[in-house]
Amino acid sequence: MIDKTIWENIAVWDHSETVLNHHLRDSAYSINSLRLDNSASLSITRRQLHNELLARLREFIITGKIKDGAKVPEKELCDYFGISRTPLREALKVMAFEGLVSLTHNRGATVRPITINDLREVFPIYAHLESLAGQLACDRLTKDEIGDLLNMHDQLAALCDEDKCSQFIILDELVHTRIEIAASNPVLSRMLQVVSGRVRRVRHLVRAPKERQRDALEEHGRIMTALKQRDNVSSASAIKAHVDSSFRFFEEKLEARAA
Ligand SMILES: [Zn+2]
Repeated sequence: MIDKTIWENIAVWDHSETVLNHHLRDSAYSINSLRLDNSASLSITRRQLHNELLARLREFIITGKIKDGAKVPEKELCDYFGISRTPLREALKVMAFEGLVSLTHNRGATVRPITINDLREVFPIYAHLESLAGQLACDRLTKDEIGDLLNMHDQLAALCDEDKCSQFIILDELVHTRIEIAASNPVLSRMLQVVSGRVRRVRHLVRAPKERQRDALEEHGRIMTALKQRDNVSSASAIKAHVDSSFRFFEEKLEARAA
């Protein structure tokens, strides 16, 4: 049985938006205390619009709403989000940097298919960054936050039992995001943002069967134990082992598809 409160949070959850809003909220507090003038407030609003649009557009691509190789329908997206071409193109440039779309002169943007080489380039970096987040979070998580993570771990076990793959993926990502937020390092979060798009995309593209969910759950169990004991060496190594294991799973699946 899934806890309703957690589930409501998951339904509106967005990885990048959650992390960025967390850091923006922190900067807004310090900025507000300086009593900035209207022009500064306007630039904050624009930045928030950019971040929100980017986060939503990213979710479109990551969750496969626009297929691999397809042209990004710029006019439809502008109508859908109620924006002009300029902010959309700014967001597409960031996503091109993250390897999610390709920009071609005069042809606009297309969704960039994820290749085995992408995974081989991105996963080792992602593994080290996630591992660092686990190491830093160990000392910074409050008792309540550890309690929340353990509760989420129980919910993850329930989803695995019920073989609810989509929800399992989302909650698994939310656990990692909570650890990243606890690490409380905006530079680390930005670096993770650059590499995590392709990792998240492959998760949605190659959906883990129940056996892989069970393995992931066991790996998460080791991460939870390390966090509970505030053992930052074990936490870092347990997260790295979990990401490495995910990489091997996805690599094998993509190789089989390519054969
Ligand atoms: Zn995980």
